Amino acid sequence: MSLGNVYAHCNCCGRTYDDRVDYLEHTSYVGTLETGGLFEYDLELRNCSCGSTLSAKTPALESRSRQVSPLVTKNMQVASKNSKA
Ligand SMILES: [Zn+2]
Repeated sequence: MSLGNVYAHCNCCGRTYDDRVDYLEHTSYVGTLETGGLFEYDLELRNCSCGSTLSAKTPALESRSRQVSPLVTKNMQVASKNSKA
């Protein structure tokens, strides 16, 4: 089996994730191990459907913007409510 085009692979159950979208949809977020500038990526930890934890390299900048985005969305919703009232 070639893993050349697979984004992530679970050694426990053998599940493969074709791309990042597939990976995000079928795993649950656990946390991010920040490499603190040691590398240009962080390690994102997510649980496979079998329960074992997988790690994938994620660009450091991307992980930061993802942490911010829920707050931005919330603030936008508040702002639109206020403008209606
Ligand atoms: Zn698995």
